[in-house]
Amino acid sequence: MSSPAHRAASPPYVVVGAGFTGLLAARRLAQAGHAVVVLDAADRVGGQVHTGIVGGRPIDLGSEATHLMYPQVGALIDELGLRESMVLARPGTSWLWTPRGLRPLPEGVGPAGPTRLRPVLRSRVMSLPGLVRAGLEPVVAGRGRLPAAGEDDMAVGDFVASRFGRQVADRLVDPLLGSLHSGDVRRLSLRACAPSLVPAATSGASLLRASRARSRAGARPGPAVSFVAWPQGLVALTDALLAGLGGLAPGAVEVRLQHRVTALTPSPDGYRLTATGPEGPVHLSAAGVLLAVPAARAAELLRPVVPAAAAGFAQTPAASVATVVLGLPPAPVRRVPAMRANGLLVPSTEGSLLKASTFLSNKWAHLEDTGVFWLRMSAGRYFDERLAALDDDALVDHLRRDLRRFTGLDVHPDVVAVRRWPSAMPQLLVGHSARVAAARAALAAALPGVGVAGASYDGVGLASCITSATLIAAEVAAGGGRLGAPDPERTR
Ligand SMILES: Cc1cc2nc3c(=O)[nH]c(=O)nc-3n(C[C@H](O)[C@H](O)[C@H](O)COP(=O)(O)OP(=O)(O)OC[C@H]3O[C@@H](n4cnc5c(N)ncnc54)[C@H](O)[C@@H]3O)c2cc1C
Repeated sequence: MSSPAHRAASPPYVVVGAGFTGLLAARRLAQAGHAVVVLDAADRVGGQVHTGIVGGRPIDLGSEATHLMYPQVGALIDELGLRESMVLARPGTSWLWTPRGLRPLPEGVGPAGPTRLRPVLRSRVMSLPGLVRAGLEPVVAGRGRLPAAGEDDMAVGDFVASRFGRQVADRLVDPLLGSLHSGDVRRLSLRACAPSLVPAATSGASLLRASRARSRAGARPGPAVSFVAWPQGLVALTDALLAGLGGLAPGAVEVRLQHRVTALTPSPDGYRLTATGPEGPVHLSAAGVLLAVPAARAAELLRPVVPAAAAGFAQTPAASVATVVLGLPPAPVRRVPAMRANGLLVPSTEGSLLKASTFLSNKWAHLEDTGVFWLRMSAGRYFDERLAALDDDALVDHLRRDLRRFTGLDVHPDVVAVRRWPSAMPQLLVGHSARVAAARAALAAALPGVGVAGASYDGVGLASCITSATLIAAEVAAGGGRLGAPDPERTR
């Protein structure tokens, strides 16, 4: 381990990308006693965590909430001192659009399918033959297992369909998991997108039987509502990540915005980065580098130095998505029965541009204003080209038409905000985890002390990014400390 004097003399660690992952990684490196410089191409920190001011109100236009079912989320909230100020989502129905119209999302259904059949039965989301097929899961569970060892993977939609029938995949998993990833459940990886199902997939154990055994043993399902947000928006999280870590000294973080990193090369004391800043090109030395950028950007930076790693990362495409927030007059909204819920999910089979809507003023107490009903709509899926062809006005009109079709709501908005997210949602396609592991191995062999972290590699969502940032920051720190002059042969 290096002494404080040695660390002060060493170049800083550089984190490329000041999104949620990059900020947390910078915090972890600083906590380990390193000086850290964070570079981001944008003019603000946060990346896909972006609280905008809409109609005078802070409203999230990117990530909108996180979930306490993940232990690392609760731990980070405590570390940042944000538990007192957090707001829990109100309990309430979320609608699911089905061929039979709106149905309440059954209890016990997660992104990867049902854990209990009774609520699915009661919700009437499924047809009778669909329900009968779903009930056969314990009988068919042992068929078509995924090999435990090795790199075999399958589509999460195909796994669920093989267990519960195609209707469960189409009516429940597609609008939940598919919508969350803005992707196609017939192509998204089981290992990368639903890792909790992998043990059952490899062992052939029945998911329904396991759930019944848990209930018999007296295990209660966790609290139904554990989505959390903050009144000032999710910017609370990104602000708190950097609080108290300012200045350029051991254990401190310096953030430089509007610095797009264009090159990364090995150098005798570690690495050299080139960035384009507001005043022209900037060069920086780094003891180690953590790339907290989307896979396509990491591939661009690594292509000249580690083409094998770049080729692996380049195989994670991304979907463009958009968020539209409407401020509506509350009285006419409240007269529409379907609007007495927390939101709506629409399966891709419906062909609508609208994939989900959150009725913000119902879901969050802090967004229940007397004069405005806040509503958020999400659009964009990997296989859908329509978003790019619509300008903002056409997009808003289109989404409002979709919402009217599903809920009957036809109210003119007083406030409209549109935020587009080009190539933002990584598509963790079948084989993703093995491809990323191989690319990481090639990177570690060629450039010790350089790592990639974030949603493109370790999973979409803030909870996955917490794990990714923490693990990779530790790896980068370990590799960076061991640097000698990199072997030029190994970077080919
Ligand atoms: C609309 C939307 C809604 C979402 N809702 C939720 C939700 O409710 N809950 C949830 O948990 N997750 C949600 N997510 C997903 C979650 O926000 C992301 O998985 C997470 O924020 C990704 O963080 P990241 O730091 O890995 O990447 P990013 O946030 O994409 O950050 C990458 C950063 O790298 C910078 N960058 C890129 N290239 C360069 C370069 N060459 N040089 C310098 N900087 C560069 C970018 O400017 C950016 O700031 C949502 C995502 C979107 C788009």
